[in-house]
Amino acid sequence: MLNQSSNISVIVGAQWGDEGKGKITDFFAGEADYVVRFHGGNNAGHTVIVNEKTYKLHLIPSGVVYGKPTSIIGNGVVIDPKALLDELDYIKEKGIKPKLMVSDRAHVIMPYHIAFDKALSSHQGQLAAGSTGRGIAPVYADKMFRNGIRIIDLLEPNVFEEKLKKGYSFTKNIIQKALNQDFNIAFDQILHDYLNYGKKLTPYIYDTSIELYNAHTTGKSILFEGAQGISLDVDHGVYPFTTSSNTASGHISTGTGVSFRNINRIIGVVKAYLSRVGESPLPSEIHGENADFLREKGGEYGTTTGRPRRVGWLDLVQVRQAVRVNGLTEIALTKLDVLNNFKQLKVCIAYDINGEKVKEMPASLTQYRQAKPIYKTLSGWEDLPEKIWEKDFESLPDTLKKYVAFIENEVGCSVKIVSVGPQRHETIIR
Ligand code: GDP
Repeated sequence: MLNQSSNISVIVGAQWGDEGKGKITDFFAGEADYVVRFHGGNNAGHTVIVNEKTYKLHLIPSGVVYGKPTSIIGNGVVIDPKALLDELDYIKEKGIKPKLMVSDRAHVIMPYHIAFDKALSSHQGQLAAGSTGRGIAPVYADKMFRNGIRIIDLLEPNVFEEKLKKGYSFTKNIIQKALNQDFNIAFDQILHDYLNYGKKLTPYIYDTSIELYNAHTTGKSILFEGAQGISLDVDHGVYPFTTSSNTASGHISTGTGVSFRNINRIIGVVKAYLSRVGESPLPSEIHGENADFLREKGGEYGTTTGRPRRVGWLDLVQVRQAVRVNGLTEIALTKLDVLNNFKQLKVCIAYDINGEKVKEMPASLTQYRQAKPIYKTLSGWEDLPEKIWEKDFESLPDTLKKYVAFIENEVGCSVKIVSVGPQRHETIIR
C-alpha cells in the first residue's frame, strides 16, 4: 500500500525560463528529502543566493545548496559527464558535500553531439532556437534514433565501444556529408575519456526510478525541479524556437519513472515581467529606457551563456497556457522588486491577430509573428518597505496587491508565493 502522507511537489517555469526557479526550489528544498531534475541538461542555468553567497548550477538540482536533500538527476536528463564532474568539483569547493544520484538510464552528451549542435545552428539560421551549443538537440535526437549512449553503458566497455562506433560514424557522416562541415574528433580519445568518466561517476549511478518509488512509498518528500519554461517546451512551446525536451510538469513521469498520479502540488514560477534569450517573435517585448532598466536591475544576462536577455511586459497569454498545460496548483511570482518605482505597468492580456482578440497561444507561426499585444495598464508602486519579507502579504503596497490579483483573475490560478529579492529569505508565503 502507498503511504498517502508522501509529499510530491513540482516546480516548473511558466514563461521562457529564467523565472527564478532556482531560488524557489532552494526555498522549498529544506522540506524535501529529494530534489530531482527530470529533463534538459547543462543548457539550464539556475542561480541560488544564500547568506550573500552565490551558487550557479547547470545540471545538479538547486536543492543541493541546502545540503539536506539527496539530489537526483533523472533518466529524462541528458548528461555531459565532464560538465557534471566539473560541477561536482565546483560544489565541493563551495563547501557542500553533495548527496547525488544519477540515473543509469540517462543519456550521455558526446563530443560529437556538441559539434553537431554547432553545425546545426549555422544550418538552421533564422529558424534556430538560439542553441546554447551544449549538444542538447543532437543527444535527444540520438535517443529517439536509438543511437544513444546511456550512463550505464559507460560502465560496460564492450557495449560502450559497440554503441560508440554506431553513434560516432552516424554523426560524423551527417556533419561531413549532409552539412558539409569539418569533423575533427578522434574516436580513440572519446573511448578513453568516457570510460574514465564512467569510472569517476560510478559511485553516483543508481536505478533512480526505484529509489524514488521507495521514497514515495515510505512517505518521503520529493521536489521536482523543472528547467527552462513552458514556451520552450518542445510540444507546447513556440516551436521551433524551443528547447529539445518537454519542460511541462507532465514529463516528470517519463523523465523519472514517478507516476504523475502521485503529485500533490505543482508550482509555476512566473517572473513579474518577461525575459527571453534567443530568437522568435515576442509580442510584449519592449526596447529603450524601460527595457534597459529592467535588464540592468533584473540582471537579465544568461547564467549559462552571459547573453543579454530580451525583455518585455508580463504576457498573460503565455501564463494562461502554463496554468492549463502544467495543471498548476499555484504560482510563485518572482522579481516584483525589479518593478519598484514604475509609475505604470503594462500587462499583456491577449493578442490582436489581424483584428481578432486571441487569448491563447497560437500554434501558427504566421499568426504568432503577426500578434500585437493588447495591454491593460495598472498603477505601479514605490520602493517596498524595509524587510517586507518579515511581514505578511497584506503589508505589501495596495497597487502591488492589485497587480497580483489582476494576474490571478486573468489566468485562473492563485499566487501563493511572492518573491521580492534574490536571497532565500526575501520571500513571502501567503
Ligand atoms: P531559473 O533558471 O528560473 O532558475 O532563473 P535564473 O537563476 O536563471 O534567473 C533568475 C535570477 O533572478 C537569479 O539571478 C536569481 O538570483 C534572481 N532572482 C530570483 N528571484 C528574485 C527576486 O524575487 N528578485 C530579484 N531581484 N532577483 C531574483
